[in-house]
Amino acid sequence: MILEVKDFNVTYVNKHKRVYAVKNVNFNIDKGDSLGLVGESGSGKSTLAMALLRLLSKKSTEISGTANFLGRDLVNLSEEELKEIRWKEISVVFQKSMNSLSPVHRIRTQVEDIYRVHNPKAAKEEIRDRFTYLLKLVNLSDRVYNLYPHELSGGMLQRVSIAISLLNNPKLLIMDEATTALDVVTQGQILDEVVKMEKEMDMTRIMITHDMSVVATSCNKVAVMYAGEMMEMGYVKEVLKNP
Ligand code: ADP
Ligand code: ADP
Repeated sequence: MILEVKDFNVTYVNKHKRVYAVKNVNFNIDKGDSLGLVGESGSGKSTLAMALLRLLSKKSTEISGTANFLGRDLVNLSEEELKEIRWKEISVVFQKSMNSLSPVHRIRTQVEDIYRVHNPKAAKEEIRDRFTYLLKLVNLSDRVYNLYPHELSGGMLQRVSIAISLLNNPKLLIMDEATTALDVVTQGQILDEVVKMEKEMDMTRIMITHDMSVVATSCNKVAVMYAGEMMEMGYVKEVLKNP
């Protein structure tokens, strides 16, 4: 088991109201699983993903329960301990991940910074080689390495973000509608590459999507969220057979 989530709750708190976005969620993921997480808009999927990596504002959210990731409870880790996990062991790509790229730095600089979080002494050439390989997987030329984000289209930036998420060989990759905005052919190519890569590297994936065909082609398990709760989880083969 790579992740064991128990009695997990996430509540957004502000002056006037509380939004119970994730309610008493329980699930496990085994190493090598690819879990499709589906459910209508607003059902809590993104909140769950961001809460696991603790990317939500501390001031305006309350998280309870446990999320045991390879022996460590993500809910109770210190910021220091989380730093060791983010990007390296767990990576998340969002639908608009490109928005988190800095507009004032070249792609190269940002890739080097993220790589060096976990490999402080890595040489530029090593990082460039690794990233060039990943750019190929997402069907981009290494020309983008020296460009600034504004010089790329939205679709190219999204592919750059996917490549960045794979930079440090994460053990768990969370893709939150990460390929939704891309054209169908590119989406298919990227998913094929990700599936191939996770077989080689023993990577586990949570795939948040509204697209059941994405689940059917790239996931072995599926879970449905509804109004913050997780409905039963099952094997894709069985669930899709008995709709
Ligand atoms: P999904 O990813 O399934 O579309 P979300 O996790 O984005 O769902 O949203 C779950 C619930 O939390 C929704 O009711 C949404 O309106 C609410 N929500 C999301 N972000 C915030 C926020 N920053 N503050 C308050 N409520 C939020
Ligand atoms: P900051 O402005 O300090 O980068 P963020 O809230 O964006 O604050 O991120 C907090 C931490 O999480 C940072 O260490 C950042 O590198 C990491 N992080 C941000 N996005 C991701 C992601 N998609 N996957 C993994 N780690 C991330």
